[in-house]
Amino acid sequence: MPLWTLQDAWGQRGEQPDTPLQGMSGPRPVVLSGPSGAGKSTLLKRLLQEHSSIFGFSVSHTTRDPRPGEENGKDYYFVTREVMQRDIAAGDFIEHAEFSGNLYGTSKAAVRAVQAMNRICVLDVDLQGVRNIKKTDLRPVYIFEQRLRQRNTETEESLAKRLAAARADMESKPPLTLPPPSGEEPGLFDLIIVNDSLDKAYWALKEALSEEIKKAQATGHS
Ligand code: ADP
Ligand code: 5GP
Repeated sequence: MPLWTLQDAWGQRGEQPDTPLQGMSGPRPVVLSGPSGAGKSTLLKRLLQEHSSIFGFSVSHTTRDPRPGEENGKDYYFVTREVMQRDIAAGDFIEHAEFSGNLYGTSKAAVRAVQAMNRICVLDVDLQGVRNIKKTDLRPVYIFEQRLRQRNTETEESLAKRLAAARADMESKPPLTLPPPSGEEPGLFDLIIVNDSLDKAYWALKEALSEEIKKAQATGHS
């Protein structure tokens, strides 16, 4: 039995104490983070298409303008800063962050709407989002994605070094894109995926989530 109810999915304000976002058993949500252009939305679209009954995307709010092809309520909820600030103040968001001059945030209703459909919730957030989600009871699997070849400046040797460094990062300290390790946030991610080949990256993502997929299937999530 999930600890939340369908009613929670509508994000009622202040009418009842917050229910936990994540039950103790069952599949864990998935947080994907990484630099802009790393391929997060491409990989997630593929995952959500292939396993549409298992995964559901947590639709974030943002104050940025929609890009061509983006749909309100599907890619993001596109809102004004006033509306978003009001709803943040009302306690409707699990986390929010200022990124590149705009506000982004995950509402409680967005996550609960996915959970109410009995699906594994997948979130695409920046590093501030990752740190803030760590303070909640959501308990997701954290995946960092990067595309080293994007720069086209790397030799094979330097690329190999970067990959080794990225693996070491995963075990002991935050990944390459973070400021020098502070010691306060060791092992920010459970896994780093290097997206230099989309197919390989997708395979790595599915492999990483295979346990959660199995759990979802076993507990009737699909
Ligand atoms: P993000 O969501 O991380 O900002 P996108 O998924 O929007 O990134 O990807 C940015 C662009 O890079 C898109 O045009 C996408 O098709 C392309 N892309 C993603 N992964 C690869 C890859 N491995 N090789 C080549 N192009 C890719
Ligand atoms: P974009 O504008 O390219 O869609 O996203 C910019 C950045 O915002 C990306 O790093 C993306 O992961 C992040 N982002 C998207 N939604 C959220 C959210 O709800 N919370 C946080 N913290 N970051 C988000």
